[in-house]
Amino acid sequence: MSFLEYAPAPESTALLNLRDSYGLFIDGQFVDGSGDGFTTISPATEQRIAEIATASDADVDRAVAAARRAYEKTWSRMSGRDRGKYLFRIARLVQERARELAVAESLDNGKPIKESRDVDVPLVAAWFFYYAGWADKLDHAGLGANPQALGVAGQVIPWNFPLLMLAWKVAPALAAGNTVVLKPAETTPLTALIFAEILQQADLPAGVVNIVTGAGATGAALVRHPDVDKVAFTGSTGVGRDIARAVAGTDKKLTLELGGKAANIVFDDAPIDQAVEGIVNGIFFNQGHVCCAGSRLLVQESIHDEVIDRLKVRLSTLRLGDPLDKNTDIGAINSAAQLARIRELSDIGEAEGAERWTAECAIPEKGFWFAPTIFTGVEASHRIARDEVFGPVLSVLTFRTPAEAIAKANNTPYGLSAGIWSDKGSRILAVADRLRAGVVWANTFNRFDPSSPFGGYKESGYGREGGRQGLTAYLKGASA
Ligand code: NAD
Repeated sequence: MSFLEYAPAPESTALLNLRDSYGLFIDGQFVDGSGDGFTTISPATEQRIAEIATASDADVDRAVAAARRAYEKTWSRMSGRDRGKYLFRIARLVQERARELAVAESLDNGKPIKESRDVDVPLVAAWFFYYAGWADKLDHAGLGANPQALGVAGQVIPWNFPLLMLAWKVAPALAAGNTVVLKPAETTPLTALIFAEILQQADLPAGVVNIVTGAGATGAALVRHPDVDKVAFTGSTGVGRDIARAVAGTDKKLTLELGGKAANIVFDDAPIDQAVEGIVNGIFFNQGHVCCAGSRLLVQESIHDEVIDRLKVRLSTLRLGDPLDKNTDIGAINSAAQLARIRELSDIGEAEGAERWTAECAIPEKGFWFAPTIFTGVEASHRIARDEVFGPVLSVLTFRTPAEAIAKANNTPYGLSAGIWSDKGSRILAVADRLRAGVVWANTFNRFDPSSPFGGYKESGYGREGGRQGLTAYLKGASA
């Protein structure tokens, strides 16, 4: 071992109390699923974690019926104050079981434990605390007089932030008085099932939250179910389009949080070291499996070489490997399918003429891994400048004037987020004003807060999650 190498510092899995197999969570109980079950594995080792049930159409029907009963018999009759008490209780239980949830998340998803421990799980608790506070104040939120819940919400979420996406969906729905049937992603069902145990611990009335596991067919059965009043989806633009089609012509309310291809714009007066940290956080956080990732770096031509040189030095210090090691910066890619997609798009980038640079690091033998990669000399027409890679791959483009930066940043079918790095507040405000993106970060990136609305323009979807605005998606006739 050389002088500067880190000794292994693995987080213990001893506090996990996992079952060998998990059923569906319907009407307050774990029950068998009638579809063919599947195995959830660790993407870092390819080892089996547990058997997971698949919900058939009939199981989805049972779950929706349980949610309807709970809505009519208990949840819609309960005062906002009492609903808030349950949400506060859930938030506190998430905090109590934070370590266990973080370990399970890293095991099932592949993300570094320092991210699940310091970002995902604290934000999950924050989301429940925040919406717990709104539950008894809906009449005073400027959302109209006596706002009413919609009924049963069918929610489908992706694998990149499994428990956090659950919190973004479940907390506002319950605060607004709806009941829920949620489908987690097929590669990351584990923390949603531990969350179901937390709901039992919290004594949440049966049927208020139901969790049905399975793949796309289970999600499709849920969003098409005639007794679902509201559909909330986070995932790919392709599936989002299918869902919009399925829901069209019904009176279901729909929100879609889809993909992104965010521009991270660095001006020549930016504090370079801070910007380099922001670029790294923008695209290499969570292996780049982030819908709002700063995957297109737009750097002012005069500082291009300096920024890229410093970025390469910084990337060479990142440690890739065991997600459960407390020193790991880059964990595993979530699945073999996602790894294949990242490889394919990177190969296309090279074939189209961009220059590829990859940080030197040892890749573990087992599991799914992709070393941090930068493409320079990228042109706006290249696939790696247009398609969402959803992996640790940065495309670098240059600009000369603010107007060119804005035009290039907006030259995308997406519009979820953007970043601006500059010393001048006036420039930041002027540029932010002209970016077609739901969230614009200034001299920072990938910052989340439950009080701040999040959502997209164009093919990134519609509707907002978070903040007071996030409640409107779950209330009749409300608009922010
Ligand atoms: P995906 O669309 O393939 O899957 C998302 C979820 O939808 C999964 O639970 C899946 O089982 C389910 N699903 C698949 N087909 C379905 C169908 N026909 N009907 C209903 N449900 C169906 O996406 P993914 O690969 O899991 O996630 C990656 C994508 O999600 C990326 O494009 C990313 O940008 C996007 N994403 C967006 C946000 C956001 O807030 N905008 C957040 C996270 C991820």
